[in-house]
Amino acid sequence: MTVIVLEEPRRELSQDFGPGDVVSYIGKIHAAPADPFVPGDPADRTFCGQDTSGMEKLSYRPAGPGASWFPPNKRQWVCRDCDTALRTG
Ligand SMILES: [Zn+2]
Repeated sequence: MTVIVLEEPRRELSQDFGPGDVVSYIGKIHAAPADPFVPGDPADRTFCGQDTSGMEKLSYRPAGPGASWFPPNKRQWVCRDCDTALRTG
């Protein structure tokens, strides 16, 4: 199965945290199955059920069977639901 790795767009949240406090938000890393009709593009939904439109496609591809589906340097932002779906599915 081909897995497309997607990253949520980064946002900066500045409201609700008091003056001067800007919290930068790092987008989560999700995975989606490939669109059966458009090779290289993700299907409409990620494995955790989120809309893939608006997410950024990463060029990362797993090195091979057993390799992690996400880039190692993004480990801390990986979506747990997507990860679980890929490990158990
Ligand atoms: Zn996800």
